Amino acid sequence: MLNMQEHKLNAMLSLPLDISDIAVLRVQQNRQGDYIITVESTLDGTRCQHCGRKLTKFHGQGRWIKLRHLPILGQRVYLQLRPKQYICPDCGNRTTTQQLDWYEAKSPHTNAYDEYLMLSLVNSTVEDVSQKEALGYDGVKGAVRRCVRTHVAWDKFQELSVLGIDEIALRKGRQNYIAIITSKQATGRVVVLAVLPDRKKETVRQFLESIPRRLWPTMTTVCSDMWDGYANAAKEFAAAHPEVSLNVVTDRYHVAKNYRDCVDAVRKKECRRLKQELSAAEFDEAVKGMLWIVRKNHQDLTAAERARRRALFALAPRLQAAYTFREELSAIFEMCLTKAQAEIRLRKWAAKVRRSGLTCFDTFLTTLENWFEEIANYFLDRLSSGFVEGLNNKIKTLKRRCYGILNTTTLFQRLHLDLEGYCLFALYNH
Ligand SMILES: [Zn+2]
Repeated sequence: MLNMQEHKLNAMLSLPLDISDIAVLRVQQNRQGDYIITVESTLDGTRCQHCGRKLTKFHGQGRWIKLRHLPILGQRVYLQLRPKQYICPDCGNRTTTQQLDWYEAKSPHTNAYDEYLMLSLVNSTVEDVSQKEALGYDGVKGAVRRCVRTHVAWDKFQELSVLGIDEIALRKGRQNYIAIITSKQATGRVVVLAVLPDRKKETVRQFLESIPRRLWPTMTTVCSDMWDGYANAAKEFAAAHPEVSLNVVTDRYHVAKNYRDCVDAVRKKECRRLKQELSAAEFDEAVKGMLWIVRKNHQDLTAAERARRRALFALAPRLQAAYTFREELSAIFEMCLTKAQAEIRLRKWAAKVRRSGLTCFDTFLTTLENWFEEIANYFLDRLSSGFVEGLNNKIKTLKRRCYGILNTTTLFQRLHLDLEGYCLFALYNH
């Protein structure tokens, strides 16, 4: 039966295995349809694991090992072989098993299969890949351990340009934040540099000091949310080293979130009021589905949505006023202004809000006051726009996907994989 199938296979097609220095001895297919390919190494000799000397005295073959390899036509593939063993006369005739460069010792996979798993894991979860591959959870995790670095490789960097500092709360409802440091390179590529265990000033400062000195002059900007720990760490770092010159920028994404939340609060309040004052039918007509219409920017609305918004605003003039201020401020950030021009516009906007008597922006106005320099710095170099926001979304979805299993090391690995996995493990780009 086996012979029959072998014969059939050979008549059908022959594929190069794309692994050097092995000979294929036999190809079988088991009842599940898996291909079992028996191979042997065609290389002779190895280096002694104890003294490092080149060994040529053949001892024998070790136990069979079976390595999962890349699938063929949707079927699982295993390579099986008996590794060669050699004797070292200098080390009391102790034996060393020959190491081949297409699999790692003790790994149940070939390197090619590990890399294939990493590609599948980009923007996915260990659980998901494990199911698709009919492979244990630990099997996928082992591949991550073998393939994905846990720390930044500084020697791969020529420059850092914009540094982004972001944070996430690891556990729901608890305030234990971890900080994520990224770099947006001059080429536009975003890479993760570190995942820090907290967002304290000292921790961030320590990280900045750990960046190789040759890269310091290439750093132009630190872009983050409004958090003293980040801003002060960057400022103190720059003040301590004459070769460092950094603009500390509050990304407009974080500013926008801040003032847009103010308008959302007004919307909620006004809706509560209308619920008291209108009949149920009137309320539904005026308010239903308005959350997204109010959240959207004016230019993204259809004519029908604009008409509904006008109707709501007629009933809630306070909401209209807040909305208009929001759109005015967003428009300032869209303009191509110098920092000095932007400062004038921002101050004028703040004065107008104060004069209006609206109180919903009070906390934002204080924030604007406290972070005025950093917010205005955005206009120095608008490159940072979107970078933090895009990354934020990536982190958010990663957190949702991998809820509960993330610590700083795995978070670094998974972010590294999400950001650069296609580049690192792409199958078809060479
Ligand atoms: Zn030896």
